[in-house]
Amino acid sequence: MSSLRILENFGFFPYIRKGKRLKPHISLKFRNATFHIDSLKGEGYNLITHAHSDHYGQYNMENRNAIASIETAKILKVVTNKRFNGFTFKIGEKMIIEDLKIKTYDTKHIVGSSAFLICNSDSKVLITGDIKDWKIPKCDVLITEATYGSPEYVFEDEVERIVKEALNSTYGVYPVGKAQRVAEILIKNGYSVCANQKISKICRALKIPLVNENADVNLTTIKNIWNCKGKRFVITAQRFYRLPRIVLSDHLDYSGLLKMIEKSKAGCVLFYHGKPSESLINEVKNMGKEVYTLKDLERLAI
Ligand SMILES: [Zn+2]
Ligand SMILES: [Zn+2]
Repeated sequence: MSSLRILENFGFFPYIRKGKRLKPHISLKFRNATFHIDSLKGEGYNLITHAHSDHYGQYNMENRNAIASIETAKILKVVTNKRFNGFTFKIGEKMIIEDLKIKTYDTKHIVGSSAFLICNSDSKVLITGDIKDWKIPKCDVLITEATYGSPEYVFEDEVERIVKEALNSTYGVYPVGKAQRVAEILIKNGYSVCANQKISKICRALKIPLVNENADVNLTTIKNIWNCKGKRFVITAQRFYRLPRIVLSDHLDYSGLLKMIEKSKAGCVLFYHGKPSESLINEVKNMGKEVYTLKDLERLAI
């Protein structure tokens, strides 16, 4: 039993909550505290790694035991129109929950994305959420994602092209995260940027200065870019859009994931989000590490 094996070796019990609409991801039971990661409200605490909707922060707005970075709470507030009643922290800050020390780290995935390093007496457990930066702290157990967890995913960000093609262009971007990253790159390089309403609202909440009209560059959602005229690009690492693309990803590619895993020095790696391929799993095993996915864990009705 993988969950019990992890309990024996690392001092906490990882499990999946049973129940149709729970949107479970993963739960971790330590001696005195339980944490539900990117999941619906549960007994104990909910850790929200970032504001993307597939990590379910939007369902934790009323949860007083939800924990998210200040920026994550701000984005969630804009997209849900609700107050975030949980606990917020500044990324880089430490906190104590029950008897556990928790350190937080910027994962560079989107504005506000945070990793949590839970230090218990038996082990250090790092939960990365979605991650762009392979430089992570050392840990014993690494709980991470595999969005691009397959060898065909090799990409390099084309930041210079984003700047070069900017003038009089419309860029199609994902409104949460990617839009803010692109806006910041452009503004830093001296361009004025305007955006559609959804993107503007989030940028405004994060104090990213956009202009209302006559901008050098226009940002819009990918859905809406089909209604725009002139020079158009989609800013993404995905290949399935039928428009010219400029590569800029919010995730590590395959070799980046492997580099991060190696750097972590973890003895045990657990993929909790995204789809790890057979070859990723085998490569990590070949590094001498134990590897698990959510399928390997116990399912409990709590
Ligand atoms: Zn994400
Ligand atoms: Zn994700």
